[in-house]
Amino acid sequence: MLKKVPGTKDILPIEVSRWQKIEEISRKTFSVYNYQEIRTPIIEDIAVYARSLGEFTEIVQKQMFLVKNNEDTYVLRPEGTASVVRAYIENSLDKTTGIAKFYYIGPMFRLERPQKGRLRQFHHIGAEVIGSGQAKVDIEVISLADRLLDEWGISGYEIIVNSLGCQEDKKKLIKILKDAFKYERDNLCDECQKRFQNNVLRILDCKNEGCQKVIKKLNLQDKHLCDDCSAHFTQVKSGLDALKIKYRISPYLVRGLDYYTRTVFEITHKDLGAQDALGAGGRYDNLVKELGGPDVSAMGFAFGIERLFLVHSLQSTDHSHSLCNSIRR
Ligand SMILES: [Zn+2]
Ligand SMILES: [Zn+2]
Repeated sequence: MLKKVPGTKDILPIEVSRWQKIEEISRKTFSVYNYQEIRTPIIEDIAVYARSLGEFTEIVQKQMFLVKNNEDTYVLRPEGTASVVRAYIENSLDKTTGIAKFYYIGPMFRLERPQKGRLRQFHHIGAEVIGSGQAKVDIEVISLADRLLDEWGISGYEIIVNSLGCQEDKKKLIKILKDAFKYERDNLCDECQKRFQNNVLRILDCKNEGCQKVIKKLNLQDKHLCDDCSAHFTQVKSGLDALKIKYRISPYLVRGLDYYTRTVFEITHKDLGAQDALGAGGRYDNLVKELGGPDVSAMGFAFGIERLFLVHSLQSTDHSHSLCNSIRR
């Protein structure tokens, strides 16, 4: 019998209604916020991702689904942001719109180990705002993510926020971390030994017990931020406070991808265990320029649809929330 590729799933007619429902709720919410849908190809030039995510990130090093054809190497998109930015530049959308606000819904692909229950084809709902560096964009993007969760009927999540600062501040942060980890290198796991050389920020995400002990001793604060970035972060926090959005500041939240600058955020759920992220996002003020476009700031986020369904199935004893039932099967 022929079987589906490991790490992929058939969405059968009995399940498809909850997919349609979450898509419908999302489209409605995005349109209230004046975001327009964009559909980019599933296949992209490898340079789109190699140049944006960073050479030493886990995705580029281990998780890219490559498609080779004679001299050309393509990649099945592992995430949406770089693809949307490529489309924004190629179609000169900076000339036709002021601030561009996009959303997308679709499959992403990563070469995961399916025996660990990870999906090789999974689905994202994401948004990108390109063309403004103002703090009000950060506030809107985070409040939109919060609103979507509410519309989907998800409760019990936590929004964690941090600021990485500009490129210069990030360099400072990397130096602070390198100095701190220098004397603790023997206590780091094998993977983090490599990260120490190439991607020291990523050590903060390591779940290894030994690494966690070292990380806890760090006592990180926001000392790496310059005056401008510090003021920007203060504006973001007071904007979120004014909207009564609950969040927690964590100087340990860094996100592993090279393109992030200033505000980063992650949405976790207590019921998900060790892999607790429902979605994440952040600012990427240099990426558009780095990929050959105009010098404009941008910010976005993405949620994993399968993660959202997983939380729903875990919350299934709580029937008080009507929308909660509506995206459940
Ligand atoms: Zn700065
Ligand atoms: Zn580690």
